[in-house]
Amino acid sequence: MNKILLSACLLGKPVRYDGKSKTLHNATLDQLLSQDRVISFCPEVAGGLPVPRATAEIQAGDGAAVIAKQASVKTQDGTNVSEYFLSGAQQALALCRQHEITVAILTESSPSCGSGRIYDGSFRRNAIPGKGVTAALLAQNGVRVFNQHQLEEALKYLEICS
Ligand code: SF4
Repeated sequence: MNKILLSACLLGKPVRYDGKSKTLHNATLDQLLSQDRVISFCPEVAGGLPVPRATAEIQAGDGAAVIAKQASVKTQDGTNVSEYFLSGAQQALALCRQHEITVAILTESSPSCGSGRIYDGSFRRNAIPGKGVTAALLAQNGVRVFNQHQLEEALKYLEICS
């Protein structure tokens, strides 16, 4: 049966920049978990960043631009952390390929996991349309990416693919 990739923070893992999680409660998700069909992953931690860590935003672009080396992910003090984000994204893609995953449910607005919007790089929590680095790389490679508010839609899509 098809598996899904899920942002680790949605599964209650305290891996966010502030050391907290963003737990998603859903009966169908619980069922998928009991069937061992959920693979949780945090690209930023896998990429080598600590918990807690400085907040980072994509400057002058989106995840696709970071992949194309036309934009950078930076912390507020200007440290370029793009390589950590790119490494995490590559590892997420490798995991999807390994498990033949075609559906990912990732946390919205994150510079890694955001799939519909990200912050604009001003550190003022201004959201703009765009994907984070991992969401962009997965989408470029045929993985359908949903956010946690599109859970039912994602599960319906998963059913069709099964
Ligand atoms: Fe959650 Fe993704 Fe941020 Fe990791 S990188 S804490 S999985 S939103």
